[in-house]
Amino acid sequence: MSYDLIVRGGTIVDGSGLPRYQADVGVKGGRVTSIGKVSGPADEVIDAEGHIVAPGFIDGHTHMDAQVFWDPLGSCSCWHGVTSVVMGNCGFSLAPCAEKDKLLVMRNLERAEDISPKAMEAGIKWSWASFPEYLDAVDRLPKGINYAAYVGHSALRTYTMGERAFSEEATPKDLAAMKRELRAAIKAGAAGFSTSRSSAHQTPDSRPVASRLATWDEVRALVGVMGNLKAGVFEIAQEDAPTPERLHNFIGRLKALALESNVPTTFGVVQFRKLPHDWRAFYQCVDDTIAAGGKMLVQGTSRWISTLLSFESTLPFDRTPVWSDLRKRPLAEQEAALCNPNLRRALLEAAREYMAQPHRSVGAEARKPDFDSLFVLDKPLPPYRSVAQIARESGKDPLDVIIDLSLEKHLKQFFIQPLVNEDQDVVLSMMRHPRSVVTFSDSGAHVSQIMDSSIQTHMLGYWVRERQALTLEQAIRKMTYDLASFWGLQGRGLLREGNFADVVIFDPEKVGPQMPTLEYDLPAGARRLKQKSDGIKATIVNGEVLMRNNEHTGALPGKLLRGPLAPSA
Ligand SMILES: [Zn+2]
Repeated sequence: MSYDLIVRGGTIVDGSGLPRYQADVGVKGGRVTSIGKVSGPADEVIDAEGHIVAPGFIDGHTHMDAQVFWDPLGSCSCWHGVTSVVMGNCGFSLAPCAEKDKLLVMRNLERAEDISPKAMEAGIKWSWASFPEYLDAVDRLPKGINYAAYVGHSALRTYTMGERAFSEEATPKDLAAMKRELRAAIKAGAAGFSTSRSSAHQTPDSRPVASRLATWDEVRALVGVMGNLKAGVFEIAQEDAPTPERLHNFIGRLKALALESNVPTTFGVVQFRKLPHDWRAFYQCVDDTIAAGGKMLVQGTSRWISTLLSFESTLPFDRTPVWSDLRKRPLAEQEAALCNPNLRRALLEAAREYMAQPHRSVGAEARKPDFDSLFVLDKPLPPYRSVAQIARESGKDPLDVIIDLSLEKHLKQFFIQPLVNEDQDVVLSMMRHPRSVVTFSDSGAHVSQIMDSSIQTHMLGYWVRERQALTLEQAIRKMTYDLASFWGLQGRGLLREGNFADVVIFDPEKVGPQMPTLEYDLPAGARRLKQKSDGIKATIVNGEVLMRNNEHTGALPGKLLRGPLAPSA
């Protein structure tokens, strides 16, 4: 037998959670054809001695809908062992939408997900109106990794209701049109339907995104379409539940909908500092729903979700006039200004004034800092020191600490401002729950605010190697098989003969994120945070080596992953 590729001498962690073992992997025609002692000629051999050979990671929560048009690799996820992503989360997709209305769907994405409208304008060649046409467009694109796509509620609403989507309830006629489009999307292979009811999701003019105008009955009717078709996953960005009554009410509706529709239902759960126990109620909801015969899965992450503050990206004080004047200037000029004592005094004064006022930030926008919960990102993995701690030790004002540390690095110093999940013991409890997976990178979104495409390598470097809190087998299952099973990605997420050869090969002693950087490499020169990783020897997608030592080989083996009803699936 001859092979396209043999991965020789590695340690297999197959994604199922079963213990690791030594074996070669033979690949032919995009599939794993042999696991064991593999001999025979091969076009290519990868020496995996001392390395782990695992299924490529799957990320169930990304927003790569726009990015896929200008970045076939799916960065930054592609640098962290990810070989398949689900996009179109939280109600945001680029279809259905005709080109003439594209500014309306971009409006949904711009502030809620921090995707530059200029980058979208420059980077996307619009060639669709309906969702099936959008899927065909993605299908035709060159792709490094595999993509599955939800149809988003905000787009669906905007498509059928126009401007009214941002202000009105749907009429029976609107709802019938939405149901018709959704049915067509699922039949063409959409991964499912997503929505947002979260106040974190606003338009640039501070209005709710379109899906937030929907009644719960509208959501029920749309999820019911998937129930009738027996295909598709329902993803929801949660409703705000600031009181126990509202929490109870929302959870009750979620559970009832999952049971009445029998549609697999998934949502992110994080710990909010103000409501530190609410996350448990959602895990209880999942346990109860499954006990009653439903399907539900929590999307967790492997750490805090944080805004990365810096003079290069964003700072909380940018909205004050003195700071906004400074921050419009090139970085070198900002550096010079901070070394001018008079200017520095004026900046500190403005920052203090800002700190004394109440402010409301939306989504992942920089918040007013709490210096005890603002950390210096001086190495790729925790622990990190807080700005308050450094201020106490050095007898300095915390604002001076931020400026001085930034000056030491020519303003290229990032500070971690956790928005949620501050308590890492809670994160660990969440990860250990059998109905949660590690996903939620938000890759493709919040591109100048958040950099969570590294949650997979953080998981391997921090929780598995440094903390030894999870075994490799457990960690990998939560990033592969558990996701493939829930989303019905047949033949992926598990390293077995006959399955697609999506494989990641990494050194367990070295794997981990690198430091993030800020780059201006989006279409139209828009900026984004970028983060790569160490320790990944090769990433293989559909049997072809996509990355060698995290450098792109030139191959573009990724596919559109269509749902079960698609004629070609
Ligand atoms: Zn999202």
